[in-house]
Amino acid sequence: MASPNEPSRKTIPIVPVSPTAADAGDSTQEMVSLYAAHRKVYPRSVQGRFAHWRWVMVWLTQLVFYGLPWLEWGQRQAVLFDLGARRFYIFGLVLYPQDFIYLTAILVISAFSLFLFTAVAGRLWCGYACPQTVYSEIFLWVERSIEGDRTARIRLDAADMSLEKLFKKWFKHIVWIGIAMWTGFSFVGYFTPIRALGMEFLTGNMSSWEVFWVFFYALATYGNAGFMREQVCKYMCPYARFQSAMFDKDTLIVSYDQARGEPRGARSRKADPQSLGLGSCVDCSLCVQVCPTGIDIRQGLQYECIGCGACADVCDAVMDKVGDAKGLIRYSTQNAVASGWGPEQIWRRVWRPRVLLYAVILLGVSLALVLSLAMRQPFKVDVVRDRAALARIVAGGQIENVYRLQIMNAAEAPLHFKLAVQGLPNLRLVTEPEVQVPATESRWVSVRLQLPYEAAPPGAHPIHFQILSFEEGRRLVGEIQEKSVFLVPR
Ligand code: SF4
Ligand code: SF4
Repeated sequence: MASPNEPSRKTIPIVPVSPTAADAGDSTQEMVSLYAAHRKVYPRSVQGRFAHWRWVMVWLTQLVFYGLPWLEWGQRQAVLFDLGARRFYIFGLVLYPQDFIYLTAILVISAFSLFLFTAVAGRLWCGYACPQTVYSEIFLWVERSIEGDRTARIRLDAADMSLEKLFKKWFKHIVWIGIAMWTGFSFVGYFTPIRALGMEFLTGNMSSWEVFWVFFYALATYGNAGFMREQVCKYMCPYARFQSAMFDKDTLIVSYDQARGEPRGARSRKADPQSLGLGSCVDCSLCVQVCPTGIDIRQGLQYECIGCGACADVCDAVMDKVGDAKGLIRYSTQNAVASGWGPEQIWRRVWRPRVLLYAVILLGVSLALVLSLAMRQPFKVDVVRDRAALARIVAGGQIENVYRLQIMNAAEAPLHFKLAVQGLPNLRLVTEPEVQVPATESRWVSVRLQLPYEAAPPGAHPIHFQILSFEEGRRLVGEIQEKSVFLVPR
């Protein structure tokens, strides 16, 4: 009987329409269907050092995800992406949409980190830190705690409906829904102040968008971690598809040592495998049973393998029991397995040209980001010309241009701004040159410039606004020059 973890493969006999000489009389020809019906995977629980590290990552990532929105920074939430006010708060940093370049740099850093880690250590991200793995692990733990380990779950699913089965299934789904709802709530808490959201939730006053996103994210978590699990990795995740392009023969992967393990076969504990002509693998199939994607690592590197190391953990335990050396399944590289290299030789091959290239780019972009953030002005200014009145003649024979300045205070304290204009002789700023903007707020200011008639020839003259900012006590904290043009009509 096929194991519940084995994919189904249908073989369809075909009748050749016009047999070639080569086919003639070949009755063994068959076609393998590319369609495989889904078989539920029942991963067995596993203990070991890699399982331990995965749980460390589960705790770490979830403490950060669930905890971060509750952290306070002064009078506000420490991390808040306030889309309505178009302001992003990340601890002491206040970013405006104009700071998009930082987001771009963060995305570039994330992409190159992924390239670097994948080239060096394969799918470590997938196996330990990806939200799909982390939530599947949590949901699986709930399932295991309520329904039992692999065999008990297979039996329960195969059994007819009973009061016990109904209770276990309902209880499991209620706990899953609770976790999923809390996850959705925490997610929305990154975009709207979470304490206020909590009050709105309790009083039933959440906006329709908040309700939509809480339920949408909860549904995605419930569906992906409760039902889709390995299917997300196998069929939906684009990273699984292109990561092989970043692999080479020196990339760390979970490998089965074929030379040592084969020929596989069961034997008594006291038997000497060599005298029986057997390798180290006792063919217990535990490595298949613990695999969250239901594959057999003994068939070699497969794209379904998320590099979680569960098979290595369980195989180490088996090797311990039969008194053989650990590491029949281990993190290693294709070159290392083929040539029997140890950790030292593997380390020596880490710094390959592609790894160095990724590392240099990553370091360069990270340094640029840190420097640019350190040298960042605590405010921004956008100059917009008044399109309704490009230029006009006003009392006293002056030519007047009107501008709108958006002054964005990215500091945590109120700032005082002093405006001036330069670029044309006798050009004057005739509106109030001093402006106050509260902490983390932005303000639109209307500015009028005047130039005596015939002080400049007709046309567009480049000018620039100089904006100085002062903290309380008149300490200068920054200066910005913004370009614009002054129009002189014919
Ligand atoms: S767990 Fe180890 S010994 Fe058991 S089947 Fe897998 S490779 Fe062989
Ligand atoms: S083959 Fe091993 S490392 Fe790969 S997904 Fe399965 S259990 Fe994890």
